Amino acid sequence: SEERLAHAQKMEAIGQLTGGIAHDFNNVLQVVIGSLGVIERQLARGRAEEIGPSVAAIRKAASSASNLIDRLLAFSRRQTLLPRVIEPDRLVVGLEDMLRRTLGSGVELDLRLGRCRRSVVCDPSQLESALLNLAINARDAMPAGGVLEIATADRRLDADPADPDLTPGDYVEISVKDNGVGMSREVLAHVFEPFFTTKPTGRGTGLGLSQIYGFVKQSGGFVRIDSAPGKGTNVRLYLPGRDQREVQPAEAIAEQKQGCP
Ligand code: ADP
Repeated sequence: SEERLAHAQKMEAIGQLTGGIAHDFNNVLQVVIGSLGVIERQLARGRAEEIGPSVAAIRKAASSASNLIDRLLAFSRRQTLLPRVIEPDRLVVGLEDMLRRTLGSGVELDLRLGRCRRSVVCDPSQLESALLNLAINARDAMPAGGVLEIATADRRLDADPADPDLTPGDYVEISVKDNGVGMSREVLAHVFEPFFTTKPTGRGTGLGLSQIYGFVKQSGGFVRIDSAPGKGTNVRLYLPGRDQREVQPAEAIAEQKQGCP
């Protein structure tokens, strides 16, 4: 649990780092654009000999932009997924303590487990940080308190003409539902975009849902969000479910070693 807290804090730090990089990168671009404008005006007036300082400013800005991108790449290399066979209920129970600490005393945690027979294959630390991120969002959406419900279930999804991207099959649904402020249609339309946030500077990075989207998609699943102002929000993660008996013996043994104290 301490390890998970450390991981969550690291993810938050990484999120802040990336948010900071985007901000700094934009500042650097402003220098480049501004200096190019100066150069254009100088050339238009036939004063090519004056462009030296602007060219130097652009060179400096470009090298600092390149430095920022190196930092960003160093971060993304750490993001390698390490998939394992996971029983969703067991993962949620293992995270209960952390979730309660994240939610604080104002928000009640209601776990609805026991209806999920299938396992999923994904990176457990990514799934944990996805759930912690969703809990943080729910907490922020319920400043006056409320209930966060986490439910798991096996779902068989059929082909849906309205959703041609959906791969029919067996999924595990992990639903994270709050009765907080909810989202307007406009906000809902942008939530998966990196750096989209409605939170005050310093509080939100706008990376939570975009990271969750990326991770779930890489794991072969998808995310659905139902939300309306005043009604609350339900974020449902769908991950391909596999029958526990399908698990290869070697994996099952590794899983037992890892999962049992
Ligand atoms: P961040 O939490 O840093 O803003 P996210 O990508 O996790 O980044 O969320 C983006 C935006 O989506 C939030 O700023 C908020 O406006 C909205 N949002 C996300 N989760 C919820 C929720 N449970 N209830 C209401 N709004 C939410």
